[in-house]
Amino acid sequence: MTAGPARPQVSYMRVSITDRCNQRCVYCMPPEGVALKTHTAILSYEELARVIRCAVPLGVRSVRLTGGEPLVRRGIVDFAASVAAIPGVDDLALTTNGVLLADLARDLRRAGVRRVNVSLDSLRPDRYRRITRRDAFAAAWTGVEAALAAGLAPVKINTVVVRGLNDDEIEEMALAAAAGARLIWRFIELMPLGEARGFGPDALVTADEIVGRLAAAAARRGLALTEDTQGQEPLGAGPARYFRLGAGRIGVISPMTHGFCSTCNRLRLTSDGRVHPCLTSSLEIDLAGPLRAGASDAELTRLLAWAVSLKPEAHRMRERRPELAERRMSRIGG
Ligand code: SAM
Ligand code: SF4
Repeated sequence: MTAGPARPQVSYMRVSITDRCNQRCVYCMPPEGVALKTHTAILSYEELARVIRCAVPLGVRSVRLTGGEPLVRRGIVDFAASVAAIPGVDDLALTTNGVLLADLARDLRRAGVRRVNVSLDSLRPDRYRRITRRDAFAAAWTGVEAALAAGLAPVKINTVVVRGLNDDEIEEMALAAAAGARLIWRFIELMPLGEARGFGPDALVTADEIVGRLAAAAARRGLALTEDTQGQEPLGAGPARYFRLGAGRIGVISPMTHGFCSTCNRLRLTSDGRVHPCLTSSLEIDLAGPLRAGASDAELTRLLAWAVSLKPEAHRMRERRPELAERRMSRIGG
């Protein structure tokens, strides 16, 4: 038997600091919300920071804070500062819906957060309200502006594209990015996890379709959409392809149609201390139990290394397995 290609070292950790959220996006959460972990089940900031520290010997250099909605957890600025101060962590980023960002952007930047992704699925306030079930488009957009003003760079907008829900806006969004050059706009294929399973397979707009449609819209305006091979994320953190369009940059993320498992360099930690080797598998390793039972740093690093060894060679998300219904992005953090 010949060995497969060597897996890249894990260098990137997504840390979901809360399972709570101030929105109820239709593809992510039911209107009534989901059963939340108790406060005692959620790791303290000190515990989360310790797990991150224990991941550094494995190669983790880049940390992204996510949720739920990370900005609803009190004390996030001080926590961000403590993560940025961990020796070996040289890149700290945040994924947020942006609604609370306006008041926090400057402090987060000072605390050491370098870059931010803001999730925004529509430029139309009424549609934004239908998708998020919250009337907060203006707040989210003010958050984007505040992030730019605070010097968070780059600021990326993440749009999950859902056929019939918002796919008629992708050309407008891309052209907005092309005109401004201040934002990188990224389009993401819908994954059939949690609530998104209710949409059915036709809701998926593939990355190839997105690129084709954007190229056609660009050509109608005398612009070219050209692939930008320099556009990889720092530390190779993402399955994104990047393009230049006018003065702007566009990204397309294809978890469904382009396998990226063999190059996946990420681990995910949930707020209740579970490590997920892969977004699409129900496998999770409990760190909270050992951590609270007195495990040493070396033991926690060993458990994290075990999680890395369990990363699969490929995912089977297109099979729409029933257990994917239990995989909630609001818990795992995207
Ligand atoms: N609340 C924050 C936010 O919305 O940015 C952070 C957590 S959210 C789970 C992280 C990302 O996952 C968001 O960009 C969201 O749009 C994306 N997401 C949630 N469910 C998804 C799905 N079924 N397919 C693709 N992306 C999804
Ligand atoms: Fe909340 Fe983010 Fe899920 Fe929307 S996508 S419900 S903002 S966790």
